[in-house]
Amino acid sequence: MAYDQRRRRSGVVVHLPDGNAPFYLLRPTGGGDDWAVRRRADLSKTDRFRFREYTITPDAEPDAEPHSYAMECAVCSEVGPFSGKAAEAHAWVPAHLRVHPEHLTYREHVTRPYRAIPGAWL
Ligand SMILES: [Zn+2]
Repeated sequence: MAYDQRRRRSGVVVHLPDGNAPFYLLRPTGGGDDWAVRRRADLSKTDRFRFREYTITPDAEPDAEPHSYAMECAVCSEVGPFSGKAAEAHAWVPAHLRVHPEHLTYREHVTRPYRAIPGAWL
């Protein structure tokens, strides 16, 4: 967060000056149109932030969402039912083939839960 002293409004800093765009870009906290601030002297900080490391890993906790599987026809994009068991999802393919014998290519969609594990403060 920063406060634009010339426009008397606060915003989230979404861009710092660099070689391509030599200005700060602020965005209203509730969303909306960004605005540019050219001079650092026009900004004052209103909040302080700390950064933290996170490790992203497959979620194997007991309360993790279950894996799910579904098959999609690559010809017509129809998707079979999602299931927690891959074999059940695969069983949709022969049924689809009976109705559309010329649809011979498929995609498997696998949904696996992941978890962000907080690490050290930076
Ligand atoms: Zn199809």
